[in-house]
Amino acid sequence: MKKKFLLSIISIFIVITPFLFFGCNNRANDKLTNYQLNLEYDEVSKKLYGIEKIDYINNYENMFTSLYFHLYPNAFREDAKHSVVSSANEEEAYPEGKSYGNIQINKVESDNELLNFEIEGSDKNILKVDLGEEIYPEERIIISVEFEVSLANINHRLGIGKSTINFGNFYPIACVYEDGKGFSQDLYHSNGDPFYSECANYDVSITFSNKFDIASTGDMQEIVEKENKKTAKYKAFNVRDFCFVLSENFEMVSKTIGATTVNYYGYKNDDNLQSCLDVSIKALQTFNELFGEYPYKQLNIVKSNFVHGGMEYPNLVLISDKYQDQYDIDYVIVHEIAHQWWYGIVGNDEYNHAWMDEGLAEYSTLIFFRENKEYGQDFNEFINNATESYKLFEKVFIKVTGSVNGTMDRGLDEFMTEPEYVQCTYTKGVLLFNTIEESVGEKKFLKALQYYFKEFKYKNTTPADMIYCFNKATGYDLEDIFNSYILGNVVIK
Ligand SMILES: [Zn+2]
Repeated sequence: MKKKFLLSIISIFIVITPFLFFGCNNRANDKLTNYQLNLEYDEVSKKLYGIEKIDYINNYENMFTSLYFHLYPNAFREDAKHSVVSSANEEEAYPEGKSYGNIQINKVESDNELLNFEIEGSDKNILKVDLGEEIYPEERIIISVEFEVSLANINHRLGIGKSTINFGNFYPIACVYEDGKGFSQDLYHSNGDPFYSECANYDVSITFSNKFDIASTGDMQEIVEKENKKTAKYKAFNVRDFCFVLSENFEMVSKTIGATTVNYYGYKNDDNLQSCLDVSIKALQTFNELFGEYPYKQLNIVKSNFVHGGMEYPNLVLISDKYQDQYDIDYVIVHEIAHQWWYGIVGNDEYNHAWMDEGLAEYSTLIFFRENKEYGQDFNEFINNATESYKLFEKVFIKVTGSVNGTMDRGLDEFMTEPEYVQCTYTKGVLLFNTIEESVGEKKFLKALQYYFKEFKYKNTTPADMIYCFNKATGYDLEDIFNSYILGNVVIK
């Protein structure tokens, strides 16, 4: 996700401080879980009805008798423990006043027999399904979940806005299992992207009013129009999530570059469709060359009602429609496209190690502007601004709270405020990767990113994995530099 621009961070911090302290390759992979989703959106009731068939494979080394799934739409409930947006962003998120949503699970079955299930987690955020049998490593089980999602009127990943209806994180998705930790069950949080998932294959059918157009993850197989409704069918292979957006106001331009078609969805009568498509293509080409080839057939850049700058999903990024200045739009587009590499293809636990994908996506954005000088952005100026911004954040934070915690590697719920999260994750992430690049040189730095990409394509990584790749590819021991930043001991001068 793109939260805020580097230079605007401090002013935001000062203004809102008083309010904050209350604190895959492109083929089906038979070693993956398969999700089959049959969906229908009813705009009158503002509900999405779904039947989800999950052909789950146990890719872990433990035996399970229960499986766990995230129920992210329950974060939009009226009585949810955490707000989905910080208090500073509430007005922008809910322009027509507060509104709520949720997900209801109606039935869970396997082999036509009902399975017991419970809504669990610390805030009704987890669906626990008792399998009634043991599932051993490499074994599969097919379960079917009938659900309905009520959408809030909110400019968010999931919600109804003035121009777009966004369907991000809308369906029950399997929790990642980690030895020693169990199934990840982290709560939705207003900071960051509180998501963590495995790559899977998707087969999705979506029915909706024919007044809408659709942008989606995956490759469209067909779209059929019947009795004022459209049904669009998609397949997506080796992706870690599935998102789609409906709008009556889309105007789309596209161009195919190599094996990938880039589609930019703007609004009708926009005069910057071509500029947005151009920068998207440039980002794809630049990152293909620098990091490794984008392995999917589609890349969709979708203008939408969204309270933050942008949001990444596989094959699809949301770009907030709040920006007027083309420079701001370009910046967010490049940042979100960089996430296709760092989050999408190479995944990580975004809740507990957000700096891994956010820091790298932000630094990749600066590299893009360094490589493409025609955009008129000065790389060194970015770095100087990041340094000054971080120093000022520390100074202000110490003044207000008496101390500052510069630890990058911590859970989203451990950041006291949004500016603290943004500074420690994005800004300090930029400074970390810049320090590494200055230590090993540009050539070896890019070699390390290429190695990291190749080794962990379609997998999830940890900080130790990242450090291992950088050490192996560069021949340097960079562990102390990494740790000084991510554990918060480094002094930024
Ligand atoms: Zn981001």
